[in-house]
Amino acid sequence: MSEYTKPLPKPTATSRPFWEAAKAHRLQLQQCGGCQAFIYYPRDRCPHCLSDELQWKPVSGRGRVYSYTVVRRAATRSFADKPYVLAIVELEEGPRMTTNIEAPPEMVKVGMPVTVCFDDVTPEHTLVKFKPA
Ligand SMILES: [Zn+2]
Repeated sequence: MSEYTKPLPKPTATSRPFWEAAKAHRLQLQQCGGCQAFIYYPRDRCPHCLSDELQWKPVSGRGRVYSYTVVRRAATRSFADKPYVLAIVELEEGPRMTTNIEAPPEMVKVGMPVTVCFDDVTPEHTLVKFKPA
């Protein structure tokens, strides 16, 4: 088995619950107690109402492709193994996540329904990706 050479997440005190849930193959986001909005990426205050009453809640893992591109010419050697889909997925709960779509690039379309999947890239690191629903 070859060594994983792509960049890995470095959880902070704020983002650690997101990554720990991902490792358990669960998607959870912060929800604001002030305005009820779900937010992503993890932060200390709600970007909508500035409340700091944020709680981690499980979410559906369902969404749609908001936008995407196919990366065929990688910026670094570690990404040069094959073309990949870099996408923004709009979750049912509202937030948009930058992620990868695990599907042949020619299959991906804007508006396509997708569902979360988890890629255990190392024993300690799991990445959150999406696949066609
Ligand atoms: Zn809020």
